[in-house]
Amino acid sequence: MSKSIEQPISILVVEDDIGDLGLIRASVRLAGLRPIGDESAVVGVPTLAEGVAAAARSKPDVVLLDLSLPDSAGLATVQAMRSAIPDVPIIVLTGQDDHQLAESALQAGAQDYLVKGQFQHDALGRAVRHALIRQRLESRLRLFEAALNSAANGIVITDVNATIEWANPAFAKMTGRSLSEAVGRSAGEMLNSGKQDAAFYQRMWATILAGQVWSGELVNRRKDGSLYDEALTISPVTDVKGRIHHFVAIKQDISERKVTEERVQHLAHHDQLTDLPNRVLLTDRLAQALAQARRDRGTLALMFLDLDKFKPVNDTLGHDIGDLLLKEVALRLQSCVPRESDTVSRLGGDEFVILLAQIDKAVDAVVVAHKVLAALDRPFNIGPHAISISASLGIAVYPQHGEDVNRLLKNADTAMYHAKKAGRNCYRFFRALAEKTDA
Ligand code: GH3
Ligand code: MG
Repeated sequence: MSKSIEQPISILVVEDDIGDLGLIRASVRLAGLRPIGDESAVVGVPTLAEGVAAAARSKPDVVLLDLSLPDSAGLATVQAMRSAIPDVPIIVLTGQDDHQLAESALQAGAQDYLVKGQFQHDALGRAVRHALIRQRLESRLRLFEAALNSAANGIVITDVNATIEWANPAFAKMTGRSLSEAVGRSAGEMLNSGKQDAAFYQRMWATILAGQVWSGELVNRRKDGSLYDEALTISPVTDVKGRIHHFVAIKQDISERKVTEERVQHLAHHDQLTDLPNRVLLTDRLAQALAQARRDRGTLALMFLDLDKFKPVNDTLGHDIGDLLLKEVALRLQSCVPRESDTVSRLGGDEFVILLAQIDKAVDAVVVAHKVLAALDRPFNIGPHAISISASLGIAVYPQHGEDVNRLLKNADTAMYHAKKAGRNCYRFFRALAEKTDA
C-alpha cells in the first residue's frame, strides 16, 4: 500500500551537483514535507548506477532524478530508473531550456519535472505530494481492476440508462460478448431472452431507480443465441448527494444449479419406475383442482386403480417383468387421458390414481373408466411374454363424494375395493351412484 502524504516519506535524490543537492534538501524542509527521521533521510547519490542500486534496495517513496549525470544523460536515465523501480514515482530535474526533454521524460513514465534553478520550494512540495497522490490512486486503480478482472462473477458497470461502460472477463465468458462489443450497448437489450415480461423489468427499474438493491433470477441470452439462467444483483452507485450516476451489476451463471434443482424437484414429485407424478404431486394437483372447482362450482373426479392379480405376474415371470408391465400400464393409462388438466399418477405397487380435474358431470368419468378398462384389455407384449391384466377402478366425485383431498382419495379407494369385491375388471362409484360392471 502507498503511504499517505501525511506520513513521513523517503526521498532519493540522484544528483551529482553538491550545490543542487543542498538546495533540494533545503526545499524539502521549506516545503514542509516530512522525510523519515530528519532531512538526512533525503538520500543523495551522484550517479545513475548508484541511484538504481539505492532505489532497488531502499524502495523510496519518491525519486528526484537529475537527467544529466556522470554515467547517463537524457531519456535513457529515466528509462533505466523506471525499469528498476516501476512502482515508484520519478520526478525529473532538468536544466534550463530542456523543456523538450522534460516532456519526453513524462512520456517515458516520469510523473513530473522541475527545472533546476527555477523552482521554488513550494513547487517541489507540490510535485512530490501530487506524485504520491497519483501513485496511490494508480496503485488503487490497478488493484481494483485486477480484482474485478479476477472475479468469478460477471461484473458490469452501466450508466443510469443501463448502457454498458465496463464489464469484466467473467461477463465476457458468461455472455460470449467481449468488453469492446459490450461497451456502449444497452445491457437489457443485449441479453434479453424474451423470457421475462415487461412487468418484471418494470419492478427491477422501480427498485434501482429508488436507490435500492435489486436481486433476482432471470433467463438471459448469450451471443450465440443460447439461453442461460442468471442470478443478478444490481446496485445503484450514488454520489455524495445520493444521486444515482451508475449501476453496478453482479452476475452469476446458475444454469447448472437450476438443472440440478429441477432434477431434485422432479425426483421428489415423480415415481422412479414409471416417471408418473407420485402421491406428493397428485395431492398437490388435486388440492389445486379442488380450489378451482370450488371457485367455479365445478366438478372433478378421482379414479383409484389397482391392477387385478398382479402379484402372480411377479411370482411367475419375475419382478423385472412385473416392473416392465407397470411401465407399459402407465403408458396406456396416459393415452386414456390426453387433456392437459388431467393427471395419471402412481401411488406405489400396482396402484394408480387418475385425476380428472375438469368434468361437467359425474358420468363423464364413466367414459374414461370404459376407456381405461378397454386400454388394458389388449395383452401386453413384454419380451417373449404376452401378459393379460385388468384393473379394478373406484371413482369419487367432487363435491358429492367428498370435498377435500383426503376424503376423496379415501372414498375412491373404498370404491375400488367394492369393484374388487364385485369380481374385478370393473369400476364402482363411491356409494354406487352409477353402478356398472363390465363383465
Ligand atoms: P388384487 O387383484 O387383489 O389387487 O391382487 P394383486 O395380486 O394385484 O395384489 P395387490 O394389489 O395386493 O399387490 C400388488 C403387488 O404388487 C404386491 C407386490 O408384490 C407388487 N409390487 C409392489 N410394488 C412393485 C414394484 O415396484 N414392482 C413390481 N414388479 N411389483 C411390485
Ligand atoms: Mg393389485
